[in-house]
Amino acid sequence: LEVPLIRALGFDADDTLWHNEDHFAATEDAFADLLSRWATPEDAKEALLATETQNLELFGYGVKSFTLSMIEAAMELSGGAIEASDLVMLLERGKAMLARPAELLPGVEQVLSELAKHYFLIVITKGDLHHQERKVQMSGVAHFFNAIEVISEKDPNSYARLLDRHNIIPSEFVMIGNSVKSDVLPVVHLGGIGVHIPYTFTWAHEHAHPDHELHTRNVDGARYWELDSIREVPELVQRLAGS
Ligand SMILES: [Mg+2]
Repeated sequence: LEVPLIRALGFDADDTLWHNEDHFAATEDAFADLLSRWATPEDAKEALLATETQNLELFGYGVKSFTLSMIEAAMELSGGAIEASDLVMLLERGKAMLARPAELLPGVEQVLSELAKHYFLIVITKGDLHHQERKVQMSGVAHFFNAIEVISEKDPNSYARLLDRHNIIPSEFVMIGNSVKSDVLPVVHLGGIGVHIPYTFTWAHEHAHPDHELHTRNVDGARYWELDSIREVPELVQRLAGS
């Protein structure tokens, strides 16, 4: 039986190490409230998403892009009638999201401190360089990581370049994250090991399998692991290493 050698672990940041999506959802609700004179909450949110998607190529990911898209969508939805003071409020919401310290998910600190003793750990996140670096630095877990990588897109090429830079062979690399598309599939396609931890599951890890069985999934021929919580990562890594 061939047992893979595991040398390095990559962790996605947003919704893997700390809460993120719920902050966006709260701001989207505030946006819809502000636009309620001109649109139903559903239409307001849909218009915002359409503006964000349209701007993605020019702005990239992140809170600053999201804030600009809120302002643009607000002007469009209101036909230019929205008050400047309301636009300032949207700016303030964006700034509050940027200023907010990272709120770690349960188990993150303990798991990282355990894994840092044995493995090369990398944060791999996409989005705005300044904000992402700041969040990592303010998270209280930065010292567990050997490297922090903020990339503009999580595709196989970006992962390949990044691993090459750190002299890591894909087969010795495990990537852990909440997005199958960004965190798991590109790494599996390179020959690495993908671990999916859905964000919503982390809210209710009481729902973990009663027998605590680690299990894999298959999507488009790609096989990867699916866990209920980051707390299961050390056990999985041990099993992969055959110990
Ligand atoms: Mg994420």
